[in-house]
Amino acid sequence: MDETTRMERLRALPSIDELLARPTVSSLLSTHSRQLGVTALREAVASVRQRILAGEDVRFDERDVVTALARLSGPKLKRVINATGVVLHTNLGRAPLAPHAITRLAHLAGGYSNLELDLDEGERGSRYAPVVELLCQLTGAEDAMVVNNCAAAVLLAFGALAKGKEAIVSRGELVEIGGGFRIPEVMQQSGATLVEVGTTNRTRIDDYARAITPQTGLIAKIHRSNFAIVGFTEEAHPRELGALGRARQVPVFVDAGSGLLRALHAEGIPSEPTMASIVASGVDLVGFSCDKLLGGPQAGVLVGRKAVLEQLKRHPLNRALRIDKLTVAALEATLELYRDEREDELPVRAALQLTREQLDARAHKLSNLLLGVPHRIAHGEGRVGGGSMPLAAPPSTAIALKGDAVSLHERLRTAEPPVLARIVDDEVWLDVRCVADTELEALAQAVSGAT
Ligand SMILES: *Cc1c(COP(=O)(O)O)cnc(C)c1O
Repeated sequence: MDETTRMERLRALPSIDELLARPTVSSLLSTHSRQLGVTALREAVASVRQRILAGEDVRFDERDVVTALARLSGPKLKRVINATGVVLHTNLGRAPLAPHAITRLAHLAGGYSNLELDLDEGERGSRYAPVVELLCQLTGAEDAMVVNNCAAAVLLAFGALAKGKEAIVSRGELVEIGGGFRIPEVMQQSGATLVEVGTTNRTRIDDYARAITPQTGLIAKIHRSNFAIVGFTEEAHPRELGALGRARQVPVFVDAGSGLLRALHAEGIPSEPTMASIVASGVDLVGFSCDKLLGGPQAGVLVGRKAVLEQLKRHPLNRALRIDKLTVAALEATLELYRDEREDELPVRAALQLTREQLDARAHKLSNLLLGVPHRIAHGEGRVGGGSMPLAAPPSTAIALKGDAVSLHERLRTAEPPVLARIVDDEVWLDVRCVADTELEALAQAVSGAT
């Protein structure tokens, strides 16, 4: 485009007042506030101006207003398609909820509830009362409470049990969980003094025993969720720690992380201890996340001995870490699925337990919807994600797309609905493990539009 044409295109750009006077434009804006409408017009004109300045031969088009309106008025938090194959993706909201939990949320969200009211007694009750019995049944613990996430559970445990005292932790477990959540810093924040024992790869029960002093407030064991130490290793079993704690009258806390409530039977995924097995080992307190392997809403559970939980419940921090009614509702419904042995309806467990044959069948379904899009079916290894099971390598079946991977990956991310894929050896892979069968059509459409 030569300079004269460029100046002409720029001069031809309409003013906002001109646009507002056009009947076609005012009808486009009619369902929005005037302020949002004017912002959309400014944005639409500015984007055309930028493209002209960048050398494109374009004119103002009212369809640009439609695009700007959609961007400005649409939600910023959107449903996306997870084609990364990572089941617990922290950036993608971790666990999707089960239909049973969604129905419960829909029922409760628009009305009042007995959130802090005991309907039998007519007295004030605790907000997590609805899930205490379920959590005790499912873990074998005496008592339970729920806070905002597992990070909050750890903060509360250290704050309530070890403030102004010493907390003993193995050197091999002074971990960073992700998002800058580092166990040594949390302990410092809670007012506890860290006492490190053992070495990076080996910590024995005697190391803990020798470190106990009259100042000891807590023995803590942190599950290595997001990394593994292999080779010449040794660690104290929760059973040994529980026995030591009882003998020396020091409470023992296990931060178990992922919250596996019932064993998984999944290809390529080694088993982890269940929460019930950790409680049964005789420790006083166990903390875990609800939106990792448990498959529920974001929350952190603390289960254990009644006397210990009483101390945590009375702590002033507890009020600041409390969960809201939607979390209680979704968590109660999620736990009911375990109680009723329907836990395989949870999307996280269903996704993790897919067999290679089931993955292949889903990939073929998607492949059939991608007529005219150059692709092949590819096989590889996936990840569990969410800082869980770092050594697990579940089988991965994907549609590998032909074309420039980086730009295709970006176009998919900005598609409607947005599609998050993974790049493997300069190819975009659409891993089908976390794509629901009901999402295949929408995924195929987004891919067709982006290729
Ligand atoms: C994930 C994890 C946490 C943090 O849990 P959030 O629910 O994300 O706050 C803490 N400890 C361990 C061992 C974990 O795996």
